[in-house]
Amino acid sequence: MTYDSNNLFAKILRGEIPNKTVAESEHALAFHDINPSAPVHVLVIPKGPYVCFDHFAAEASDAEIADFHRLAAQVCKLTGVAPDEGDGYRAITNAGENGVQEVPHYHLHILGGRNMGRMIARG
Ligand code: 5GP
Repeated sequence: MTYDSNNLFAKILRGEIPNKTVAESEHALAFHDINPSAPVHVLVIPKGPYVCFDHFAAEASDAEIADFHRLAAQVCKLTGVAPDEGDGYRAITNAGENGVQEVPHYHLHILGGRNMGRMIARG
């Protein structure tokens, strides 16, 4: 899969565009979405050049995959949405045209702070 290093999140990782960081690890970064769809809307991205979920899952190292998910779990705790202490959240990722992915750098959306409704609109 071809990765475009001029995408927005690559620029955030290079420090060319500012972000409101929630947490950071060796292989991943979590920051607030600029246009939040819920009171909590955090994006978790790997630091490596992966276009989307399946690209990351197929080609990232075990260390990158573990580190990414540990950071996502930390975000759930830090934002108070983890179901053991808070009211829960939705984690989603969009891929490609039908997934309506805007930024071609893999990112997990963590959304919470309100009831998120049904998973997808019908029709
Ligand atoms: P996608 O549609 O690709 O799954 O999600 C892209 C997300 O990136 C959107 O929710 C959008 O609001 C967010 N976004 C777009 N540009 C920026 C930006 O410059 N900074 C931050 N923090 N988020 C952005």
